[in-house]
Amino acid sequence: MKAIYLLGATGSIGSQVLEIIADHPDEFKLMGISGYQNIDRIKAIIKDFQPTIVAVKDEGDASALKNDYPDVKIVYGPDGLVEVAKFEPENDEAVLINALVGMVGLKPTIAAIEIDRDVWLANKETLVVGGHLIKDLLSKHKADLRPIDSEHNAIWQLLHREDKRSIKKLIITASGGSFRDYSREALKTVTLEDALNHPNWSMGNKITIDSATMMNKGFEMIEAAYLFDLDIQNIEAVLHPESIVHGMVEYVDHSIAALLATPDMRMPISYAMFYPKRQTTSIQPLDISQLGALHFEAIDPKRYPLLGIALEAFKKGGSTRTVLNAANEAAVKLFLNQKISFLDIEDIVIDYVREHQPIADPSLEEIYHIDADVKQEIYQSYGL
Ligand code: NAD
Ligand code: MG
Repeated sequence: MKAIYLLGATGSIGSQVLEIIADHPDEFKLMGISGYQNIDRIKAIIKDFQPTIVAVKDEGDASALKNDYPDVKIVYGPDGLVEVAKFEPENDEAVLINALVGMVGLKPTIAAIEIDRDVWLANKETLVVGGHLIKDLLSKHKADLRPIDSEHNAIWQLLHREDKRSIKKLIITASGGSFRDYSREALKTVTLEDALNHPNWSMGNKITIDSATMMNKGFEMIEAAYLFDLDIQNIEAVLHPESIVHGMVEYVDHSIAALLATPDMRMPISYAMFYPKRQTTSIQPLDISQLGALHFEAIDPKRYPLLGIALEAFKKGGSTRTVLNAANEAAVKLFLNQKISFLDIEDIVIDYVREHQPIADPSLEEIYHIDADVKQEIYQSYGL
């Protein structure tokens, strides 16, 4: 029986994790959650799962809940996320599932690894910003990291039986996002509503925008470099509009193995949660004979400049990854609040990445400092 601490329980990934926990009460017990500011949803989760500890956005939300649930430990703010991540440190059946969005997930991930707690990770920003810290900590602690992101989960499934020396490269697929058939010219006038309408996946707002700008794939290439300890030159992203093939591994003998599944996050979540077992799911099975053609093509760097910028930031190194992520988080938030146009997201991120003078191997304190500075400057410039 695994004791689950779930950060981001009210989100898209979080809700799908809760479904699996509810369906398998003899395998998982939900012990703690974070839910930020969706108080009604948090109350419903407390009622259904009776967790011991709950983290919310701020002190006000916390005191409202404390009255209603005197037996539940209520914590708040970024420190509250860390408290949930490392609650009951002596319990070695406990796992952290990190389904937060944004780099706010970094400290809780570190806190869990430091107490040798396994982390099942959807929160890719954690690796984009702090991959060097996580990699170092994993080498010193007993904790394992299991990827939930669909492409990485697919590659993880393909790599189990392989020696690292057999790998030539990893290939992750990109659907192309909400605007894959739009020209650069057409992108000038797209609306928030259009951007949130993803053709293949139903996900949280931030990752839906990141998919439309292709920043998501840049993040995922960095995520893959850290997860699988490979040089970024050995990781490739290709456009695959059907989102049926999620990840591929090319071996030194030039054979390529691919993982296919209906695009449904319950597949990778379930695989991470039940590994090494496989569990039946209610995911739509793939009827190979009905699939027809699958398409793959190179991603045009002129059409999707943020993919190139993510790689540029990775090569520039150190704190540039913090700036890449911070500028993107801030720009996406401005776009979601309708303060800037879709193409302004690119301009903001490109400017910040190009101007930054990197610090090599930034500490956690330096990362949080740079992140806060970049975000504050951007919000101030655009009146948020
Ligand atoms: P979401 O927006 O639906 O949910 C995010 C969760 O984080 C919510 O519970 C929200 O309340 C919480 N949250 C947001 N800001 C917070 C803050 N400042 N402090 C504390 N909590 C905060 O996002 P999602 O789509 O579930 O994505 C979660 C993560 O998983 C992201 O890193 C995303 O890139 C990754 N991911 C998601 C999908 C998907 O299908 N949704 C697929 C692959 C990877
Ligand atoms: Mg993905």
